[in-house]
Amino acid sequence: MQRTEHHGCHDPHRPETFHVYDVTLRDGSQQEGMQLSINDKLRIASYLDDFGVGFIEGGWPGSNPKDSEFFRRATSGELPLRNAELVAFGMTRRVGVKAADDPLIAALRDCGAGVATLVAKSHVGHVREALRTTLEENLEMLRDSVTHLRSEGMRVFIDAEHFFDGYRLDRAYALEVVRTAAEAGAEAVVLCDTNGGMLPSWMGEIVSAAVGVGAPVGIHCHNDSGCAVANTLAAVEAGAMHVQGCVNGYGERTGNADIVSVVANLELKYGWQVLPEGNLAEATRTAQAIAEITNVPAGPRRAYIGTSAFAHKAGLHASAIKVDPNLYQHVDPARVGNDMRMLVSDMAGRANIQIKGEQLGFDLSDRSTAAAVTERVKERELQGYTYDAADASFELLLRQELGLLPEVFTVSHWTTTSYENAGSDPVSEAVVKLVAQGRTQYFVGEGNGPVNSLDMALRRCLIPVYPTMAGYELQDYRVRILDGSSGTEASVRVLIDTTNGERTWTTVGVGTNVIEASWEALCDAYRYGLIHLLENRVESGEERRLEDAGRTADTTNTDGTRSSVDSAV
Ligand SMILES: [Zn+2]
Repeated sequence: MQRTEHHGCHDPHRPETFHVYDVTLRDGSQQEGMQLSINDKLRIASYLDDFGVGFIEGGWPGSNPKDSEFFRRATSGELPLRNAELVAFGMTRRVGVKAADDPLIAALRDCGAGVATLVAKSHVGHVREALRTTLEENLEMLRDSVTHLRSEGMRVFIDAEHFFDGYRLDRAYALEVVRTAAEAGAEAVVLCDTNGGMLPSWMGEIVSAAVGVGAPVGIHCHNDSGCAVANTLAAVEAGAMHVQGCVNGYGERTGNADIVSVVANLELKYGWQVLPEGNLAEATRTAQAIAEITNVPAGPRRAYIGTSAFAHKAGLHASAIKVDPNLYQHVDPARVGNDMRMLVSDMAGRANIQIKGEQLGFDLSDRSTAAAVTERVKERELQGYTYDAADASFELLLRQELGLLPEVFTVSHWTTTSYENAGSDPVSEAVVKLVAQGRTQYFVGEGNGPVNSLDMALRRCLIPVYPTMAGYELQDYRVRILDGSSGTEASVRVLIDTTNGERTWTTVGVGTNVIEASWEALCDAYRYGLIHLLENRVESGEERRLEDAGRTADTTNTDGTRSSVDSAV
């Protein structure tokens, strides 16, 4: 990728061209539990291209029908690329066959991609024992394969497998592989720490030696020593001009270098620009979208882009953050498209609660109000509630303390029973009676379990009064048995995620049994959704007013804070 802008780069090794090369679709997909369809791969490649990586390694055409089909579809119009080149992965020709006659080389040549990356042996032990050939034939295989694909008009990279171990065993031969590849026309010789055991302080000498041969050098690290990103950066500092890695650090065993961490460090710490201008701010969204497609959850503690990456919990930190966020953050989260998040927890002091309240649009500048809310949170957490994830329940608690909680509905009673008829599946029935907007609603719901039947009954009561609510959907439901030693009476905590198709909110319920806890989380979920629905109507000037929903209501002031309004006005 040609880079013309230099953002404060002081590194004499900084090359004019720098490659960001993604291997998520090949190496990353080796991760345990990951199964990518061709459609998945096309969608992931499209996100990677939007993000602005220079190369996307798509797979190994010719090695299996799925990868061949991926390349056929990708190169026949289904994967329009704006930033990236599609790369086909393969290996150097087989022993004793001309590259031009090797069917796997032909598959690379004919797959439609303009770039090929060939894995080559650089470790004498692997040449002798895995390839069962001579050191000279291995070099010839490399030379012949690169020359052939270059003569066919392809750009070629070489992945020098087990390079670091090979270098230690036979330095001269490992460097001979680098020299041979470069002389044959490889655009970069990528030094692979295939077993991932390297340490950053070991990288410099070996990478420098390879650079000293006169070859453009790349780096491909695995994370077995927990150092993949650090090793990648150490290689870059020693002169590598091409970095390989996977989104979310995917990959077999402990994964590959996390390409987003690598790129974020290069841009934010080194001051280089290796993605198109402004694209780094898409990092969080891109990694999250790819995690949705792979269906392999990406940890909240990923550097830069995890949901916890800028989440502050300790009260002492929070007080300082109020003064200056930069005191406790290594970079501005917005640079990578992430957000600072305040966690509401029993470790929290008043400052956390104030910031969290302000983020939700409530004015908590009054110290005694903030202190009262903090007390209430601590009290509830002692009972087993948690508000770290349950933002919506926190907002309801806050509204209650501030007297800003409209009564969108009041439950009179609820009950649920389950029964089983011989020969059929168990069925649950629930009865809910409530008052909403002055109307008494009384409905029975049936479901495949008690919580499901309660949800059905509750919805049947509410939808006639609030028809828009029909679009609400429970998205996720998590039950946690609480530790008996905590001394609380409650034993179960339930978290429910609810969506209206545009956004998702989380509520929490706690009780002595799972049904009681679920009912609380369920009611909070609809209460929160309805309050926001009604507020939006008021803000958008619709006639329906909050007075229908309760005695007090609130509205958003122009300064973003909320205040109580007399509903009769
Ligand atoms: Zn690898």
